[in-house]
Amino acid sequence: MRGINLELVLATVAACASAIPTIQLSSPYAGFEVFRVKTDSHPAAVQEKLSGIISEQWNYDINSHIDVVVAPDQLLAFEELGLEFDVMHSDLGASITAESSRSSLGRRQANNSSWFDSYHDYQDHVKYFQTLNEILPDNSEIISSGYSYENRSLFGIHLWGSGGPGKPAILYHGTVHAREWISTAVTEYLTYKLVTGYSAGDKDTRTVLDKYDFYIVPIVNPDGFVYTQTTQRLWRKNRQPGPNGSDCYGRDINRNWEFAWDANPQGASTNPCSQTYKGERPSDSPENQGLDKLVRQLRDGAGIKLYIDWHSYGQYILSPFGYKETLYAPELGKWTKAAQIVSDAIRDSSRDLTVFTFGPSGATLYPTTGAAPDHVYSIGRAEFSYTIELRDIGKYGFVLPPELIRPTVEEQWAGQKVLWTLLDEEFFDGEGPA
Ligand SMILES: [Zn+2]
Repeated sequence: MRGINLELVLATVAACASAIPTIQLSSPYAGFEVFRVKTDSHPAAVQEKLSGIISEQWNYDINSHIDVVVAPDQLLAFEELGLEFDVMHSDLGASITAESSRSSLGRRQANNSSWFDSYHDYQDHVKYFQTLNEILPDNSEIISSGYSYENRSLFGIHLWGSGGPGKPAILYHGTVHAREWISTAVTEYLTYKLVTGYSAGDKDTRTVLDKYDFYIVPIVNPDGFVYTQTTQRLWRKNRQPGPNGSDCYGRDINRNWEFAWDANPQGASTNPCSQTYKGERPSDSPENQGLDKLVRQLRDGAGIKLYIDWHSYGQYILSPFGYKETLYAPELGKWTKAAQIVSDAIRDSSRDLTVFTFGPSGATLYPTTGAAPDHVYSIGRAEFSYTIELRDIGKYGFVLPPELIRPTVEEQWAGQKVLWTLLDEEFFDGEGPA
């Protein structure tokens, strides 16, 4: 960039972020505990036991564990189940308070580097992207991938390199699940590094931006995201009212994509009160309609080279298919090889601390129908299409402390830099890289 003091501009955004912290949660989770319950390959038996108490499930892996939130008045009953478990949060309310108080503190530090030391609200992310756009005005534009049920923009940025826009697309989606705040930070950090790297003449950044157009939409579920910051930290879905007769809100936008929407009853829920409610019909959420429109536009333009849907948590790099565990795409070999190389890059950059598991989604984790990577591959014809589940692997889960934002975003930058160099490689057909 020329003529603008970058550090100063970004510092101003940090300093001007609304003076009254809007991330102020009176936590309804005081005294709640979160446990990682071991399943030892018998998840059904463990589920059966857990069904005897009132608990909320966070995440699970088919064979190893189920993470559950347990209310104070259920703790005794939980212990009496005799399950084997580790404690993730001994007081979830205290963890959430610590997470959000740090976020209001961080925003008062008027320097650019503090931005990635804390969590921010929707409006501040909007402003931050506008600032990134101003830093690179000839090579970027603010875009919108549609509007939410409550009419918030699914804002994002389109970046391009020399010769102007129109090259094959790299498309990133963040925060489809409202509570997965770290995915907002990662998509934002990747944008920040691309913009500042390109403007400073960084060679790797110039190379990738001269080859591909980036479309980065950091918060594809803005209503849910705002709701997690004002009302319910652990909200996942959008905020669309349920169908007739239901008091429950929200569709899971990542079970609402058209492709294979109804292919497997295990892949989503038909119950409007469920966390994974798929909707009444394919793509019947305004968020999904807007996202799908851009996917089809990019497909019909220069095509989609790479798609990533960023989530947390569990540390996985997952490729299609999600809807059927035993279905393997012809490209699975190259997707898996690329995922392995990305996983190695992340591990190296984190000094061996962060290990990612990779493979086809349904077989590696659990079946999902109407999920983004299957759709963007099958309908959007993306050459590479992944879900990345970010940190961690069961210490903090969705409530990742703010001091872990920076190492998380930095290791993903390392992983993406390597991935971009692989996208046009031919070696996947042969023996693999030396
Ligand atoms: Zn998610």
